[in-house]
Amino acid sequence: MSDKNSKSKKLKENLFYNIKDVALESKKKNEEKIEKFSINYKDFLNKAKTEREAVKIAIEKAKQYGFEEFDPNKKYSAFDKVYYNNRDKAVILAVIGEESLESGTLISAAHIDSPRLDLKAHPLYESNSIAYFKTHYYGGIKKYQWPVMPLSLHGVVVKKDGEVVDINIGEDDNDEKFCISDLLPHLANEQMQKPLGKAIKGEDLNVLVGNIPYDYESGEDLVKLNVMKILNDKYAIKEDDFISAELSFVPAYKASDIGFDRSMIGSYGHDDRVCAYCALEAIFNCKKPKKTVITVLADKEEVGSDGNTGLNSNYMMYFISDLAKSEGLDVNHVLSRSMCLSADVNAAFDPGFASEFDPNNSSYMGLGTVITKYTGHGGKYSTSDASAELMAKFRNIMDSNDVVWQTGELGKTDSGGGGTVAKYIANLNIDVVDLGVPVMSMHSPFEIISKFDLYMTYKAIKSFFMS
Ligand code: MN
Ligand code: MN
Repeated sequence: MSDKNSKSKKLKENLFYNIKDVALESKKKNEEKIEKFSINYKDFLNKAKTEREAVKIAIEKAKQYGFEEFDPNKKYSAFDKVYYNNRDKAVILAVIGEESLESGTLISAAHIDSPRLDLKAHPLYESNSIAYFKTHYYGGIKKYQWPVMPLSLHGVVVKKDGEVVDINIGEDDNDEKFCISDLLPHLANEQMQKPLGKAIKGEDLNVLVGNIPYDYESGEDLVKLNVMKILNDKYAIKEDDFISAELSFVPAYKASDIGFDRSMIGSYGHDDRVCAYCALEAIFNCKKPKKTVITVLADKEEVGSDGNTGLNSNYMMYFISDLAKSEGLDVNHVLSRSMCLSADVNAAFDPGFASEFDPNNSSYMGLGTVITKYTGHGGKYSTSDASAELMAKFRNIMDSNDVVWQTGELGKTDSGGGGTVAKYIANLNIDVVDLGVPVMSMHSPFEIISKFDLYMTYKAIKSFFMS
């Protein structure tokens, strides 16, 4: 009996897929590196809560690593480092490879926008002596998750003469915060009967911003006036300046370790700053690549990638075209020979909601970076399905570099679905596959990831760049 068992055990080890032990071994071995990487990542999360803030930090850091602003008329040579700033909301970084662009480029594309509450053009109003800002939510949110938590306000107001006023209120412990109210349970008999999707509506996401009237007088709109006066004193703006502003409310709290073992990180905006951070660190630490490597940090993914800072526009192609021209090459040929890791998060299997996942085809927190062959929805619509040949290539890159990785679909077939920038890049005839970090409570104001998966995603992108 025992002999027979050990024979089957051996055969199982040889033929079955199992990464649990590999992941545990790697966690133990890399414990210190994982922790160090996580500390720096949390710092990035706390400072980069919008795409504009992420671009600013990326460029500041890039300059420290010797990156220079891209000049399309300049001829670059091997290992030169450049960045291209697209309207302060998206950025491309590149390290010129040893080989000619004729052999294609290696691209890693992540997005730096996250779901949040944007201000409308006429945001400020007063109702029953309370001043509010009206919002229009950005990206896929569950609206009931946003009331009753501290919010901070981030963004820019651009005055008619072009002067840009940066706004960041609520991140410092001593700063004022903002919030949306909810109905007390004592009076919520009717509200509690509503389905989750209807209990809080889009037009209910109004943020409290003041309660004292100007000069303690009584009269119409004096609380509103007082708020406007405070803003005017501090930023020299008037009500119509909101028309040319991009202001967003995001959760005011900081990223923190989760669990007694501190194995996880909870934060706003892991999707997709976690992959953006990995793609940045990968290009900063990529020494003398053979092929030209490119990190793209894109905007507008959460709303379908449309607009000139999203990857459904041509700015990445224009950038590669400029590089190609300087070598006298046709951009089409460079693109057709390029490969891309679309670095974006996937849904981690959640035991609390197990029925929405296929346990055999989901990614799990703590089992490494997840390679996703296709995203999309019901019947593989609206996605780039990576070819078997490409999947094999990536398996090989990952395994040759001790990257612990898993594979996973976004939930059960027909449970819903989602997309990434992969399809837009694939439309340029580039070979693309999705890779990223499994996330729990994705798109909520407090998403959760595993520190191990974070580190493995960095290792994966770096290994790809050096391949
Ligand atoms: Mn994403
Ligand atoms: Mn998302």
